[in-house]
Amino acid sequence: MSLLVVGSVAFDALETPFGKVERTVGGAATYFSVAASFFTHVSLVGVVGDDFTAEDAAVFKGRRIDISGLERAQGKTFFWAGRYGIDPNDRVTLATELNVFSTFRPQIPERFRKSKHIFLANIDPTLQRSVLKQIDGQPHIVGLDTMNYWIESTPAELREILRHTDVLMINDSETRMLANEHNLLRAAREIFKLGPTTLVIKRGEHGALLVHKDWVFAVPALPLEEVHDPTGAGDSFGGGFMGYLASVPRLTDAALRRAMVYGSVMGSFAVEQFGVDGIKSLTRERIDDRYAEFRRLTHFD
Ligand code: AMP
Repeated sequence: MSLLVVGSVAFDALETPFGKVERTVGGAATYFSVAASFFTHVSLVGVVGDDFTAEDAAVFKGRRIDISGLERAQGKTFFWAGRYGIDPNDRVTLATELNVFSTFRPQIPERFRKSKHIFLANIDPTLQRSVLKQIDGQPHIVGLDTMNYWIESTPAELREILRHTDVLMINDSETRMLANEHNLLRAAREIFKLGPTTLVIKRGEHGALLVHKDWVFAVPALPLEEVHDPTGAGDSFGGGFMGYLASVPRLTDAALRRAMVYGSVMGSFAVEQFGVDGIKSLTRERIDDRYAEFRRLTHFD
């Protein structure tokens, strides 16, 4: 079983109170696939420019990540620059240069078209829709991320892809904006009318909330002494969540709850170091140790 992800592979420039990097390999699909590869095989579809070297691609090497769907186009790789204040939720985007991403039309290689587990990372909803149109048969689970920009500028296109989405994974402000409702539970009810059966609300240092039609489940963020760079926490969460679900035979409520914890585990590792450094050298053993830490953190009689 393998998990298909379509999304950005980027060069990021990052600035936090703990340091600065001028150029590191990032992008939603990068964080997602590295995190998910600890649980399952990942098929990555995206685009990079001719400035993306073999050394840059090394982050995908030696893992269960098939990058044969990572297109190489003429021009520069997508570039994103962000700065954080002492409050990790306080992020300022300094630059978004689409470069080769502006003409990207995802082509799903033939061998990935029967994928049963699919994650559409934050890109233009029209492209997300075009990915699903190339899939043969009915996927078991389609997860989707989006952002304020698409909610505001392409609402009709976003609604169209939401009709084909099972799990929507967004943050709290995006939830409120999409539903036009401040209360998160009521917002979830509005979102269910658009298609998804499950809403995962990523709340940064406040943890994550899963709202399902008949039940709600919450996981706190692990209290950490070292939070150096929040970049990619949401996508690493997504990789842990979807990767775990792709690795189990059935999509039960219990599996969804465990996926929430694995997502939180991967998000917690991501923020401890800059860029993908926090997740790239992990082992399944360290992941499971931290999973146990979450159990101790939340257990009471
Ligand atoms: P996260 O911190 O999980 O929200 O994701 C951060 C990653 O998203 C960074 O590595 C960026 O390269 C990437 N990113 C930022 N803006 C966009 C965008 N507009 N489209 C696609 N990816 C983006």
